[in-house]
Parts: sequence; structure tokens; C-alpha cells
Amino acid sequence: MNKHLLYMALGLMAVKLQPLLAAPKAPPAPSKPNIVFIYADDLGYGDLSCYGMTRTQTPNVDLLAREGVLFTDAHTTSATCTPSRYSLLTGEYAWRQSGTGILPGDAGLIIAPGRLTLPAMLKQAGYSTGAVGKWHLGLGGDNGPDWNGEIKPGPNQVGFDYSFIMAATGDRVPTVYVENGHVVNLDPKDPIKISYQTPYPTEPTGAANPELVKMKSNGPQHNNAIVNGVPRIGFMTGGKSALWNDETMADTFTGKAINFIERQPNNKPFFLYFATHNVHVPRVPNSRFVGKSPMGPRGDSIAEFDGSVGEIMQTLERLNLEKNTLVILSSDNGPVVNDGYFDDSVIKLGDHKPAGPFKGGKYNSFEGGTRIPFIVRWLGKVQPGTSGTLVSQVDLLASLAALTGQTVDAKSAPDTQNQLPVFLGQTKMGRSEIVEQGSGNNDLALRSGHWKLRVSPNSKPELFDLTTDVAEKADVAEANPAKVAELNARLQEIAHQP
Ligand code: CA
Repeated sequence: MNKHLLYMALGLMAVKLQPLLAAPKAPPAPSKPNIVFIYADDLGYGDLSCYGMTRTQTPNVDLLAREGVLFTDAHTTSATCTPSRYSLLTGEYAWRQSGTGILPGDAGLIIAPGRLTLPAMLKQAGYSTGAVGKWHLGLGGDNGPDWNGEIKPGPNQVGFDYSFIMAATGDRVPTVYVENGHVVNLDPKDPIKISYQTPYPTEPTGAANPELVKMKSNGPQHNNAIVNGVPRIGFMTGGKSALWNDETMADTFTGKAINFIERQPNNKPFFLYFATHNVHVPRVPNSRFVGKSPMGPRGDSIAEFDGSVGEIMQTLERLNLEKNTLVILSSDNGPVVNDGYFDDSVIKLGDHKPAGPFKGGKYNSFEGGTRIPFIVRWLGKVQPGTSGTLVSQVDLLASLAALTGQTVDAKSAPDTQNQLPVFLGQTKMGRSEIVEQGSGNNDLALRSGHWKLRVSPNSKPELFDLTTDVAEKADVAEANPAKVAELNARLQEIAHQP
């Protein structure tokens, strides 16, 4: 056979083979793994045994950490729920916008539909996207949601194909689940009414009916509507058939997260944003977890969180999705022990340190407020180990965009940076600086390398050298005026960047 004939024969074979090669459905490209983001609530740096907790164990999270990269200098952007979640989903520091503080339960949506978000970006990349768990970014327009009609805009209008959420927090009304914009199990004959100002005369409150309360509030804020014996923030009437059961909340959310994973087709990657209620107040773990720790409801809620993580991981294994799923586990802000209720968590804390070696916690800009657990597992792709590189959750948007071949418009997401190689443990060359937010929009700290400058409204600037003082015990501002001025100028520059 001469060369010419050989090429012709090979060409004919190729034509015949082509339909065979094209027949099977293409699996997701390797650069588009499924992504599961597990977001604990108020879980501190020291609240997992892989981060040094000794009074009780978190075996499921520990396994995840052994198989992935455990970060020791990872941060939320803020020390409270709403701004942290806002920054994570939008790639913009929340303190740039007014109205991004801790939202009441009837607030309107604070993420404008149409703007770039983490789920919208992944949807653009071909992902199926789902949000399960705590939302706390507002629902509805400026006047808030219509609880008895279609609740929009909400998660489904900012990039999620599916949502099953609690509107705000467990300690706020309305104490109902919302699935794809509708209150679950609502009887139209018993409409929900919500007020954050005025009690409903027909409904008992913690303040007026202490005999009906099973978990006492430690102040007037958490002493309004009583649901399941727990007094909440805000007043509510109606919606009796839709009220959630606190003891089955973790099971409900975990079940919905598993259902979401189970129903995804094999040929389309998915993104699951699984925002657990644990370990936020009120801490009412299921009876399976009561007494699992020696630390009372808060420790038992940590155990319950770990149980949810285990169920998600087992689901991925059962469905043979383990290898092609990038799992990220973190928390939305640092820990708090006494947060509105007398629930034994303070007296049973013992020598446990929820913030680990760090000072402060939820509500402030010490390291304990924003330095949180952060674990990335992607079997076969991420080399297990520990990383001390400075990372921020605000970078997940640009980093996951880089992973999935998407571009991010710096105008709408000004603070997110592509730090994918850092998140995947491939390099330790990460950010040199991040901004940490305490409680209000003027309560900020700048981390610049090992230096940290705290600028709070009612105190003079404080400077800490984290190389020698990770616990922020010694304010060295007076001894280093030039460094204070330099970091202050840099913080102002970041704050005023276009
Ligand atoms: Ca939180």
C-alpha cells in the first residue's frame, strides 16, 4: 500500500469511528468540579478538634481536614453574619455599602438582582446552583417580603436555581422555612404577620409570659414572640402550620442539601451553598446530640454540625462524587458564647477557648472576630497539609471564576482577587493585606503582613505585631507612630478606592 492509499484508509476509519467517539455524554471538564461550600454560623477558630479543640471531637471535619488543606490565617470579611455573607457572595467588602449590618428578619434583599454574585457566576459557567440553610441577606423589595405570597427577590433572583432557607436567623421571626420563594406548609387561612415594633395582643411574649419559656433570654432583645418555648427577636402571629421545629432544623437542612446533591444530573456540575444554623443561638440540638459534649448546648451544636458534615461527605461518597467535588468548609464569623440566652454554654465552657489562641470573637475586629476555620478538600487535586497563608472569603468569587474559566468585572466586585493557587495549596504566596470589619462600617482593621491596625470609632488606633503577639495583648501604636500613619493611610486608600 502506498502512502497515499494508507492515508485514505486511515481517513475512512476516522470517519467511521467518529460517531462512536461522540456518543457518550461528556462528563464535566476537570476544571469544573462540583463545589460544596459548607458555612457554619458563629463557629470559632478553636471550635473544631482539627484546630485544637480537646473537650470534644469533630471527627467528620477532622477527616476533611486530613484529606485537604487546613488554613490557619483565613478570614471572613466581617465579624457578624450579614456583612460576611454579603462579601462572600458579591466580592465586595460589605462596609462599602450602608445597610449591610445585621439585618432584621423582615428586611428587603440587600443584593441587587442582576449584579455579579458567586452563584450567578457559577451558573454562567454551566453550574446548577442551590442554597440551603441560613440566608440573612434580606428578602423582597424595599418594604420587605410578602410572607403570604411569592417572596421575591431572594436567592433565586441573585443566582440560585434552588433555595430552601430560613430568612434571617434562628432567634428572629418569622420562624418558618422558605423554599423557592414560598413559605413551606403555610395555611392561607392563617396568614403570617410580622412586626419588629409592636406585640400582637393575641400572642404571648417572653416578657409578658415567662412561665411559657423553656430557654430564658438574658435581655429584652430576645424576649418577644415565643416559638417552641424559645423567646425570639420580633413579634409574629399566624403561620402556625408553617412554624419550624428547632430540634429537627439541622436534619431538615442537611436532608434538603442531600436531596439537592442527589437530584443533579451527571453531566452538569453543581454548586451547593450549605449554610448551617449551627452553632448560632438558640442552640437546640436534636436529642441525638444532647450530651454529646461536656460543654452544654453550644458543644452539642458543634457535634451536630459535625454530624451534618459527615452526612454530606457520605452522600458524595455514596454517589461516587467524592473525587470530582471541591469541598470548602468555613464559618461566617468568630465565636460567641453568651448571645442572648441563658443556655448553660457559659457555665459548661470549662477551659475550652472558642476563638483558639486569639482575642475577641463575634462583633469585634480582633483576630477572634474574623479568623475562622477554613478547609479545602479536592481529592487528587489538593495536596493535603496546612497553610499559614493569609486568605479571605471575599476572594472565593474571583478564585472560583478562575477555576471555571469565567471573568469577573472589577467594578461590580472590587475586592475579590484570584487566589486560586493559594486555596488549592499550590503556593504560599497570597495576599499581603486584608480588611477585617468589627461591628459597624467604621469599625475596621487592616492586616498588612504581620502588622495589624485597628481603627474603631470610639478609641484611638491600636497597632499589634502578630509575629510576637498573636493574642493582640500589647498595643504598640505609641512606639511605632510611622507604622500607624502608614497603615492608616493605606486603610483610607482601600476604603476610598473607586
Ligand atoms: Ca454568624
